[in-house]
Amino acid sequence: MLKRFCYRCGAIESEDNPIINGLCLNCLLKEKTLVSVKANQKIIVCPVCGSYLIGSSWYPGSDDPDETIRWLAERVIEQSIAPVEPAREVEVVDLSVRKARGGKYVADVTVELDVVGKKVRQTVTVPLNVEKRVCPKCLMKSGGDYEATLQIRSERGYVTNDELRTAGEFFSKVNNGEDVVDLVDKKEGLDVLLASKEVARKTARLMRFNLGAKVIESYSVVGMKRDGRVRKRLTLSVRLPAIEPGDGLLVDKEPAILTSIGKGKFRVHLLHQNKEISIDVDHWWAMRKNGRIVYPHEKNLETAKVTGLDPLTIKLHDRDLIAEGPIGLTVGDEVYVINYKGVIYVLPKRAR
Ligand SMILES: [Zn+2]
Ligand SMILES: [Zn+2]
Repeated sequence: MLKRFCYRCGAIESEDNPIINGLCLNCLLKEKTLVSVKANQKIIVCPVCGSYLIGSSWYPGSDDPDETIRWLAERVIEQSIAPVEPAREVEVVDLSVRKARGGKYVADVTVELDVVGKKVRQTVTVPLNVEKRVCPKCLMKSGGDYEATLQIRSERGYVTNDELRTAGEFFSKVNNGEDVVDLVDKKEGLDVLLASKEVARKTARLMRFNLGAKVIESYSVVGMKRDGRVRKRLTLSVRLPAIEPGDGLLVDKEPAILTSIGKGKFRVHLLHQNKEISIDVDHWWAMRKNGRIVYPHEKNLETAKVTGLDPLTIKLHDRDLIAEGPIGLTVGDEVYVINYKGVIYVLPKRAR
């Protein structure tokens, strides 16, 4: 019998890889989304208690608002999911929800499909329509008002999910997160509206102490109290450093590696002096401001590839050079090159 072949990859038809409409099964899966799913239906969840709104009623959800969002997403998706020809059956085998850049929620959905009697899997990313709205119960508790805003920001210009999760842990440490009145997603981070100034201050202090955040406090007048005194709202801007342990930096031009952040200090290993120093958080940010601490990607440094480890060698403009650098580099790593006091140093370059 004449065998057919795939017009895309040339594979010959086989039991495991049948040809469908001219394409082999493998190529079909790569080229075509075999499942249609829409999740336009709005998901409204209370960011404080995790309950959710359907029609005009609030229902209790999971204590974790993200968990409520996950299973509401599952419901919305299950309702609208359908196979696309030539797939026949579709079944959701895995579904997880995450926040994409810019704060939008998306669901990663893995489905199992039946294509000409074969079971195959495909994963699709579905944008979700999520709104966070404080429920009436939580509004009552807070009096519908807030006393403080904690703005979570980063030097980077945006805040990662990991950073938000860590921040969330500090809120729950301070007061079970009960003073959170509302969360406002911003392109550059997250605004947390709090019913208590004290909780805001304590949380900011924890983030400074543990994460090396810079905290700036300011007040704005928002009205008058009954007794005639002005009512002030507190804003705490919490700026996270865009550097992690293991990253390189320059301290007064000397190449260095950040070894840890914690207990109100940044610990740094200076490569030329070969010594460890610790820098108090406030001092660190002052040094950042006046240019004494610089991240390598902020300078116009040359980059090279590591070609050997013992001794450390790099290839720079087709020349092999011996260099000094931190431990943990591997052959092929891209590194920044710094000439400091007549010695060539390298610092790791990471994808940012
Ligand atoms: Zn093919
Ligand atoms: Zn609530």
